[in-house]
Amino acid sequence: METVRAVVPQAQLFDDAVVAEFKASLRGELLLPQDARYDEARTVWNAMIDRRPALIARCMGAVDVMAAVNFARTHSLLVSVRGGGHNVAGNAVCDGGLMIDLSPMQGIRVDPAQRTARVEPGVLWSDVDRETQAFGLATTGGTVSHTGVAGLTLGGGLGWLMAVHGLACDNLLSVDIVTADGQLLTASEEENSDLFWAVRGGGGNFGIVTSFEFRLHPVGPTVMGGMILYPMDQAKEVLQFYREFSRTTPDALTAFAGLLTTPDGLPVVAIILGWFGPLEEGDKQFEPVRNFGSPVADLTGPLPYRQLQQMFDDAAPFGIHRYWKSGYFQELGDDLLDSMIEYTAAKTSPFSVVILFHMHGACTRVDPAEKAYGLRDMQWDFDIITQWTDPAEADQHIGWTRKFWRSVEPFSRGVYVNHLDADDSQLRTRAAYGDNYERLVTIKNKYDPTNFFRLNNNIVPGAG
Ligand SMILES: Cc1cc2nc3c(=O)[nH]c(=O)nc-3n(C[C@H](O)[C@H](O)[C@H](O)COP(=O)(O)OP(=O)(O)OC[C@H]3O[C@@H](n4cnc5c(N)ncnc54)[C@H](O)[C@@H]3O)c2cc1C
Repeated sequence: METVRAVVPQAQLFDDAVVAEFKASLRGELLLPQDARYDEARTVWNAMIDRRPALIARCMGAVDVMAAVNFARTHSLLVSVRGGGHNVAGNAVCDGGLMIDLSPMQGIRVDPAQRTARVEPGVLWSDVDRETQAFGLATTGGTVSHTGVAGLTLGGGLGWLMAVHGLACDNLLSVDIVTADGQLLTASEEENSDLFWAVRGGGGNFGIVTSFEFRLHPVGPTVMGGMILYPMDQAKEVLQFYREFSRTTPDALTAFAGLLTTPDGLPVVAIILGWFGPLEEGDKQFEPVRNFGSPVADLTGPLPYRQLQQMFDDAAPFGIHRYWKSGYFQELGDDLLDSMIEYTAAKTSPFSVVILFHMHGACTRVDPAEKAYGLRDMQWDFDIITQWTDPAEADQHIGWTRKFWRSVEPFSRGVYVNHLDADDSQLRTRAAYGDNYERLVTIKNKYDPTNFFRLNNNIVPGAG
């Protein structure tokens, strides 16, 4: 699994005076392996990732980020960038290099009159929702509220509101970004517009974003949502019904599906609903699902938007072991559904989850060439999220995931870049960008020709 290895100096190779000078230049902390808080700072969401940076710069602001970039460039250090630390491939942390940790940057400023928010890169979605919902506003964020704003937005940003308000990156108005030469730039439609095009989907390839400006929309505070659960022996009919139902929903209704195990050990198929239109119409919208088949539980109803945003949090706790395979499906044919059901029945861990996130409405009505995120079909984002607690069991769980993925991969076209794991190939990164890849290479050549920012789903500079 651990494919990225450092080719850079270790901390002990630095002169103490060099480290002391760097430390003194920062407003935030500089952590070395012997520091008490080092292990906590290098820990990320996926417990499979156990890397040891030579130095961790815990940045407090854009000037710290500039200092860290300049230090790493001067000393030819591999750089990793940590926002919320959720990336399954563990790209937030490196072996031997400089980890630029943005988690101390926690500022959020909401302008209710202009309906905008300024968000610093260490912020998690739960905090954005808290600050914006106080004014009855929101923007599209992730479906697990302890995911980082930074990594999620820069890769695209799928969430409950995407059919009404587009992806997270569709709501970005501007960013402040430190490029590989240590400069702080603003990128927007008016300023450095090529860079702004690239960061809306192109991930961490072009620099380190120190501030995100988002457009906000009136949402909630009460919406309708929740899950309807069916026994696994009805899985085929339920997924066939889900396929037709999700295809016809209005923008204000989003339907996901999941194959999961309930906390009391019951394998179920779930249709997971969110309604963002007038509250009084929600029951009518949910009726076809509620009336279908013989559900074992109907957990839908009115709830605060923030609660819907946190509905999956407990199923994705920090610090257990993970492996992930993902792809986009434009169709859900019966053969594909059969494979999904067959492999799920043989799953090796009760914590593993198979999810279909349906993408329709506003996020599909964007010209694919408008920004780097270009896969704008009506489609389902499919994820095998394998999770286990005992590190000794890794081979068994990874083996199951790979076999499962091999059986369904032929049905897939394209992938969401943020759902790639460490062993996914460069070809899959290309596939995530479709026709936009060549333009990304041109912009990478301009802003990062030496591939200084390479611990990511890498846009390799060169000829394209
Ligand atoms: C439980 C779970 C649920 C998820 N749900 C969703 C979902 O609903 N929708 C969705 O779209 N995605 C989802 N994802 C995927 C998520 O978008 C990615 O994991 C994303 O990378 C997380 O961002 P982060 O800041 O937390 O991650 P980090 O691991 O901190 O960062 C990931 C990468 O992003 C880049 N990066 C981070 N911060 C910056 C910055 N400020 N400037 C430049 N580059 C930066 C770096 O390359 C870094 O390696 C989910 C992931 C998990 C683990």
